[in-house]
Amino acid sequence: MSKLKRLSGFREDLCNLCGECLHLCPVLKLPIEEAKEEIKNLIQKKESKYALTKCNTCFSCNLYCPQNANPYNLILERWNDLYKKRAAPSLYRFVCPTEQNNIWQLLNIFLSNQERRWISKWFNYIPKPNDTPLLIGSYTQLFPFIIGGSKLLDYFKPIDRIDQWEGGAYLYQGGYLDVVQRIAQRTKNDFDNWGVKKIVTCLDAVEYVFREVHPKEMGVVHTQEFVNFNQWLSDNINSGEIQLKNQLNMKVTVHDNCYSKTSGGAYWETPREILKKCGCRIIEMKHNRKDSLCCGFGAGASWVKNFSIIFDIMSEGFKKFKEAEETGAKALISYCGGCIYLLWATKELKRSKLDIFHVIEIARLAMGEKLNYPKDHQKRAWDIIAIMTYSLLLSVARKNFFISKITYDKELSTFKPKKYRLLKLIRYTFNLLIIRYIFSRFFLILMKILKTR
Ligand code: SF4
Ligand code: SF4
Repeated sequence: MSKLKRLSGFREDLCNLCGECLHLCPVLKLPIEEAKEEIKNLIQKKESKYALTKCNTCFSCNLYCPQNANPYNLILERWNDLYKKRAAPSLYRFVCPTEQNNIWQLLNIFLSNQERRWISKWFNYIPKPNDTPLLIGSYTQLFPFIIGGSKLLDYFKPIDRIDQWEGGAYLYQGGYLDVVQRIAQRTKNDFDNWGVKKIVTCLDAVEYVFREVHPKEMGVVHTQEFVNFNQWLSDNINSGEIQLKNQLNMKVTVHDNCYSKTSGGAYWETPREILKKCGCRIIEMKHNRKDSLCCGFGAGASWVKNFSIIFDIMSEGFKKFKEAEETGAKALISYCGGCIYLLWATKELKRSKLDIFHVIEIARLAMGEKLNYPKDHQKRAWDIIAIMTYSLLLSVARKNFFISKITYDKELSTFKPKKYRLLKLIRYTFNLLIIRYIFSRFFLILMKILKTR
């Protein structure tokens, strides 16, 4: 048990129970009187009718609150209370790198040799004090080709430690606050042992968590300077250090991820500036920036039944996709490596023609680098759909669990995969277009029946 004091981000002293947060919420959209009642119930730890079972953990309500009371953090606190009572759903092992059969361990059997070489290099390098590590991140690791082999990596020492858990960013969104605190301490030990002074993060979420959440809510203060990769990229394009040789002339729309709503919206414009410099014309979705809808991942935070989680996630992803398609853009751009794996899975299951790129891929195309697009993404999307299907089947026979291990031990290694015959069989069948078609149709039917929202 940690001796560090954890501080709630919710400011009950500032809240006047006006209900605006849950009234304006793009997911709940509660009538104002019900919104007032719900926020009161959350504060008093009484039964929640909506927030704890429907919220997509998108951060918007913090921006809607006129009192700066941080209602989002109140929801996290209540989910944390629930976690202590009922534990995490068995399917959640999927995103816990210290649990058996997590997504990184399972995906390992589908990686190309080139991907294995990149990941192994990022995984095994121990930074030296004068290095500037670039934290590739657990989720970008699922699509290592987004950045692997790029000249952009020459400026840094790329590092990947999936048991740094993206600094706890995705667990924070699910209210696993006590686990995040242990991760905060663990990452601090890593950084201090490395002796580095500056750390660049691929995800906005990770920068925010190290800079704001760890010191202000977890009581863990890092001494390093944190730099956001998008900001670094934009600065270096502007200075002429990174040369853009091609104008892409693409009509695109932009997915603002949940964490982009932190830091007063400081993350919204930089990727848009990069896209414009690369020759993209941006058409905004109905919900963008502070009102942006989640990619779907957040729906897993307000889980009700283990078996419904994937269907809830994908049904929220479908809503996002519909908005993106309605813009008439050729491509949907994500500047979050976490969202992109779900967006690609949604695209394939929805059989959508809309292209999806990470903003780093757009910059690479403009720099004149070659991508194996869309083949790499399409293959990986079906790898992940196979893993999700397999994980869902496994989870039926398993119980809820508490996240006890933060760091790998010798017995558990993500890089020692077992045979996984059933998973390989599922993935093999997905090579057949007819099976993909049938599976997509079947998934949509199940989604309509099983989703809880
Ligand atoms: S985090 Fe997002 S979905 Fe949840 S209550 Fe706040 S605005 Fe609504
Ligand atoms: S958290 Fe803010 S918006 Fe929500 S009820 Fe309190 S004061 Fe109003």
